[in-house]
Amino acid sequence: MGLVIAKVEPLTPARALRGPFDYRVPGHMSGVDVGSMLVVPFGRRRMLGVVVDLAEVSEIPADRLLEPLATLERDVPRELLRLGLEVAAEYCSTPARGLALVLPPGTGRGGRPGVRPRRELVAKLTDAGRAALESGDDTRLGSRQRVLLATLAGGPAAAAAAARDAGGGHATLRALERRGLVSLETLERRRRPSMAGVGARADGPARLTPAQEAALAAIVARMDGPATSDRRLLLHGVTGSGKTEVYLQAVAAALERGRSAIVLVPEIALTPQTAGRFHDRFGDSVALLHSRLGAGERYDEWVRLRRGQARVCVGPRSAIFAPLSDVGLIVVDEEHDPSYKQESDPRYDARWVADRRAEQSGAVLVAGTATPRPESYRSLRRLALPERVDGRALPPVELVGMVGAAEALHPRTCDALEQVRDRGEKAIVLLNRRGWSNFLTCRSCARVWGCPQCDVSLVLHRSAARLACHHCGHSEAVPRACPDCGSVSVARHGVGTERLEGELEAILDPLPVVRLDADTAAGATGVGDVLRRFDAAPAGVLVGTQMVAKGHDFPAVTLGVVLDADATLRFPDFRSEERTFAMVAQLAGRSGRGAGGGRVMVQALDPGARSLGYAARHDAEGFLAGELERRQALGYPPFGHLIRVVCSSREAGPEAAAARAVTDRVAARCPGWGSVLGPAALFRLKGRERAQLVVKASSRGPAVEAVRDAVEAVAADRAHRGVAFSVDVDPQ
Ligand code: ADP
Ligand code: ZN
Ligand code: ZN
Repeated sequence: MGLVIAKVEPLTPARALRGPFDYRVPGHMSGVDVGSMLVVPFGRRRMLGVVVDLAEVSEIPADRLLEPLATLERDVPRELLRLGLEVAAEYCSTPARGLALVLPPGTGRGGRPGVRPRRELVAKLTDAGRAALESGDDTRLGSRQRVLLATLAGGPAAAAAAARDAGGGHATLRALERRGLVSLETLERRRRPSMAGVGARADGPARLTPAQEAALAAIVARMDGPATSDRRLLLHGVTGSGKTEVYLQAVAAALERGRSAIVLVPEIALTPQTAGRFHDRFGDSVALLHSRLGAGERYDEWVRLRRGQARVCVGPRSAIFAPLSDVGLIVVDEEHDPSYKQESDPRYDARWVADRRAEQSGAVLVAGTATPRPESYRSLRRLALPERVDGRALPPVELVGMVGAAEALHPRTCDALEQVRDRGEKAIVLLNRRGWSNFLTCRSCARVWGCPQCDVSLVLHRSAARLACHHCGHSEAVPRACPDCGSVSVARHGVGTERLEGELEAILDPLPVVRLDADTAAGATGVGDVLRRFDAAPAGVLVGTQMVAKGHDFPAVTLGVVLDADATLRFPDFRSEERTFAMVAQLAGRSGRGAGGGRVMVQALDPGARSLGYAARHDAEGFLAGELERRQALGYPPFGHLIRVVCSSREAGPEAAAARAVTDRVAARCPGWGSVLGPAALFRLKGRERAQLVVKASSRGPAVEAVRDAVEAVAADRAHRGVAFSVDVDPQ
């Protein structure tokens, strides 16, 4: 028999290792295949690795080839293996980090699985047991035995719990088993994630409106159409137009065709309604995958998908790597949401991965939103749901200017809120800034309290009595006096959600005010709890950061308010217009979803801003037309590609030199496809000095390659020791 060589990618965090490495597969490991997980000797250590290819020859002489130490039971499906490696290459990461995205959850390093299936002894009534119970002949059964049999008549149950409930113990069970009245069996028991939803609920499939019907038909036609056709669709539906119902019925269509489906949502915690609706409709064929699940739950859901016991996966961006076979439909709900981009290496965009995966498995891709990204609007075929399901108009939006205003709330906004209180309705108020005040200064020497690690000011969190940095987590006690001049007069500037909550309570008493932001939502069930409280109250105000504008459906909300709506526009970012438009349009979408109608107040320093005007008119198409023109003129996405490289170091100096070196290397290869902007200094973050450069390219492939080569070369150069590099393709 010839040699079998396994090409193994070791799962190591080190960037410098260049795999894959060759190992000889001995005869007794004949099951080893692409996707197998092996424990291999690596230097003097043992390491977990994934087989990425098999070969018959190796460049390494046969007598120097090592053999794997062990094979693991679990493995990675082939398509996912390929996808993981592709993501690594596309986003300038390492194969190991790409593979980490597709491994079974709970895979520990070094070959010891971190999570195992949960096994449990299950007791079941036998036919003889049923007969004994029904015969009513009490003489042969003890009272505990009888209670236990009666319990099991309702169906199999966990043995230990059933015996305990019957007042007996293990002995009672064993006695019944010996007599053949009960059978005992060890089964894997699934750890179930909670799917409790919140907000408005619909039962079974709805009769679709003509617009929904047309959209569904277009999706199904592509599912059944030729493999060569473009299967990527944009479901552009205003808020409340019934997009979710279209997804649900499209998923049903995929299942009817024997295929599976992936539904991506921005964040499960923030969108419990959507996940809940899928579970209501499809029951246990739905698996949830997200980071807040316990390790056991996550593992069990993954296994159910892998085995085909669950055919629909609902989850945030990482769910795009669900181990489903034969995916027929991929839905990206709220496709404009920035959470689809991962903010740590590999900095992948789940929308790009969804596109790749859909192409690989011949799936239909449906990106749905009320506020499409310019990228999707330009490149996907558009299906429109121009009206709300109930035929209600979108709420009128009023823009109010705040220049020179002393108070956080404009008098007109106060009037609108008081009306909500007087009528016993609900309002949602968005201020995208948490904490009490955004910065503190000394009144006598003008000292500003800044973060010692980052060049930003500290935010006052009054209830916690701390000043906190929102970038690095540094926090310190609220100062009693200025450490520089001793003055006890400290000024608090700006308003955050915490302070706003207090002001709203004061103005609107006795209307309950519920706050939703990263501070109140901390903890596993935090967001759900806050949303449920708001949902359960007959009237009230929900105040918070962007979190309040996600796809919630609360019919009693009649007023939406956005404060400081143009704050985002004051940041130099080519996406700020898009962000601002989406934020206002999405918040507006939360209002007026019920019989009470609705209205929206938008406060801004510059109420004439372009993106605000279009949002106020609910004119996504108008906004996008202008935005695309602007992007084209500047060569920004979708008319070009951006790659950002950030270099950082402890001391000032090396980061700038490294950024310069990367810039020079990339610039040397640029002619023909792009240019480099920078390098430029960035504000200090988490104790590190930073410099960045941005590559702007008309062609993506050569740009990614040039950046990867440049960063690798500079990182390997001893002259730049101590510098860390982060590469972000398609920065958000
Ligand atoms: P979107 O996702 O576009 O914001 P949803 O799918 O949440 O809209 O729909 C808004 C509401 O309308 C939901 O309560 C949903 O159950 C309901 N709905 C959706 N489609 C229909 C329909 N065809 N007939 C009646 N009600 C519907
Ligand atoms: Zn001072
Ligand atoms: Zn900080």
